[in-house]
Amino acid sequence: MDSAKRSRVEAWLQYGNDLGLGPYFVARTESAVSLAHASAPPPSTSMNMASTAKSSAKSVAAAAGSMATPLTTKAGLSLPIISVPSSPTLFEAAERVPGETLEDIRADLGECTRCRLHKARTKLVFGVGNPKAELVFVGEGPGHDEDIQGEPFVGRAGKLLTQMIEAMSLRREDVYICNVVKCRPPENRLPDKDEIAVCSPFLLRQLAAIQPKVICCLGACSAQTLLATNQGISRFRGEWFDFRGSKLIATYHPAYLLRNPPAKSEVWKDLQKVMAVLGLQPKKR
Ligand code: URA
Repeated sequence: MDSAKRSRVEAWLQYGNDLGLGPYFVARTESAVSLAHASAPPPSTSMNMASTAKSSAKSVAAAAGSMATPLTTKAGLSLPIISVPSSPTLFEAAERVPGETLEDIRADLGECTRCRLHKARTKLVFGVGNPKAELVFVGEGPGHDEDIQGEPFVGRAGKLLTQMIEAMSLRREDVYICNVVKCRPPENRLPDKDEIAVCSPFLLRQLAAIQPKVICCLGACSAQTLLATNQGISRFRGEWFDFRGSKLIATYHPAYLLRNPPAKSEVWKDLQKVMAVLGLQPKKR
């Protein structure tokens, strides 16, 4: 299928998914495991985890259709809700080449014109960092500075992200940094659903190629995209999810922290959870 046709089909599938029709057009089995389900927290955080937070994380997973919660009909019949498989959907599987590298994926993207975002971009921003990183940060989309330089998180928010990474006693080059969409949305608007639908398969392929231990979503856009939920990030921020063999946690976006510095303490708590999983000690000052 040519890429323009595939983009149109994917946009339609995304539209169907937004309407809650996902379970009807994706081949699933009853024994399918969840795509993203609340999993046991790392040992260092288990004592702190509020039960309300646990239940909101569960509701994210449930909203994403990822839990086999029984549904009771008016007649009292108990029906299982079909869960989302941990394997890729039919279309993602068609995109994915086993064993592909980040270079392969970059080459496949090419000088992408799959969505309208290409029209105003200066440079496509694929991602940067260690192709074998244990930790991947996923943002929303390039801003002005990233569009000029072709590298994610190099503007003001990026400088703050770099400080956060260094506070975890890592260097930028130790981790991998990328975004949901690879081209700058005009006026720094949020990426549209169809733009995300076209671009996010490349993000999924990047994550599959890297196979990080931990994925840290920066902000609502990446968290909602990967967890397939519309819930606000504050409902599930700081909770652990399983995502295709990686542990996934969402925290606030550095740009939000620039506007709301008091939220930095919440983000630091989230990053400490990541550090516990990766066996990192905070940087000595
Ligand atoms: N914000 C993002 O989400 N990504 C970037 O690359 C820069 C700013």
